[in-house]
Amino acid sequence: MTGISRTGLARPVIRPSPRRLEVYTARHLPAIPELARLDPDHRFAMEVVARVLPFRVNRYVIEELIDWGRVPEDPVFRLTFPQPGMLEPEDFRRIAALLRRGAPEAEIAAAVAAVRARLNPHPAGQRRLNVPRLQGRRLQGLQHKYRETVLFFPAQGQTCHSYCSFCFRWPQFVGERELRFAERDAASLQAYLRAHPEVTDLLVTGGDPMVMRTQHLAAYLEPLLTPAFAHVTDIRIGTKALSFWPFRFLTDPDADALLRLFERIVAAGRHLAVMAHVNHPQELESEAAREAIARIRATGAEIRTQAPLLRHINDDPAVWARMWREQVRLGMIPYYMFVERDTGARRYFELPLARAHAIYREAIARVSGLARTVRGPSMSATPGKVEVQGVAEVAGERVFVLRFLQARDPDWLHRPFFARYDAEATWLDQLRPAFGEAEFFFEPGLRAMAARAGAA
Ligand code: SF4
Repeated sequence: MTGISRTGLARPVIRPSPRRLEVYTARHLPAIPELARLDPDHRFAMEVVARVLPFRVNRYVIEELIDWGRVPEDPVFRLTFPQPGMLEPEDFRRIAALLRRGAPEAEIAAAVAAVRARLNPHPAGQRRLNVPRLQGRRLQGLQHKYRETVLFFPAQGQTCHSYCSFCFRWPQFVGERELRFAERDAASLQAYLRAHPEVTDLLVTGGDPMVMRTQHLAAYLEPLLTPAFAHVTDIRIGTKALSFWPFRFLTDPDADALLRLFERIVAAGRHLAVMAHVNHPQELESEAAREAIARIRATGAEIRTQAPLLRHINDDPAVWARMWREQVRLGMIPYYMFVERDTGARRYFELPLARAHAIYREAIARVSGLARTVRGPSMSATPGKVEVQGVAEVAGERVFVLRFLQARDPDWLHRPFFARYDAEATWLDQLRPAFGEAEFFFEPGLRAMAARAGAA
């Protein structure tokens, strides 16, 4: 079926036939026919990894985003399917041995839990430092790290249409309730925002809030369009649905209602930004993705793009340059290149910071000014978003030049600081201050914050 959009689109959009979301999880791995081309050892290794890290993929991704002629090297295959190198060898051997000998489920579950606990499930002080309180009660579904921005994790949006194999929010998906951030209560969100007039930005995130029915999203967002929340001028929705399920904006039963909600947010004078997560240009090649982008833009929402730099997937300046150029052509705004975070399967995906910066620099040199809106490479670390600005020689010492793009203390922002050059370092906590200094300038302040959070 094709149809013409009924939402207030600037141009009619021909929509593809409706599709039903068909999802595979870890227990369905042996039933995915396309995997038959892999050798049995590879398939078994995937099952081992999928015991520890979340796995979920849908038929659209399998059929339209993965080039099966290039598997197992295909980037979207590596982005969505568990890869043998994602666990530490010792952990891999332990889980594999249990599966091979048909160990009881309880024994496997205990071993899996031990591996997960070693994978730094809540990096960057998320649980300790970011979860705010309202009248003494911890709000498990909110994070307030930067003064002007609150993250909201709606309970109905804590899954995704497919999972990314590198996901830093992986604990949200492994069924352990104490590892989850989630909030079902719109009243708590409203009360918190009412009490915090300094908050201008609300980021609805997950999981993927676009798995949520429109009526639930509207129940959270529409009250915020009233004058009582006039200080919340910007609403962002973090999503990977443009890549993993563009039909959310095209043919799902409440796709039109979603776009009408977007239009109402814009009509209410709020800035609406869809923060699209795009790892590889292959994700934007389908007709459905392009139509979804056109429909969202026609509502008055803007689309900003972000993604981590990942070994095995997009560690190539040509890939980033192609992706940013294509995003600009489609009317999207390249926003962030992130450094792979220090959690989950980082060992498989991480790159040295020096290499990350070289890739960014080479990629940005290949695009026009319109794509140079993208910032990076940026580490979302405990004190804030730290950008690697470059490598330089200062006072006879080779250093990384760093700065905060976002910070727990706004006074830290955009102050250049320096770390000793380290060709192997992959994260902020592996860097040491340059010029013989004992600590970075922000560390005393960060310790004080941690002490206050511990005392609260
Ligand atoms: S879409 Fe986002 S939250 Fe979902 S698995 Fe991918 S990175 Fe994680």
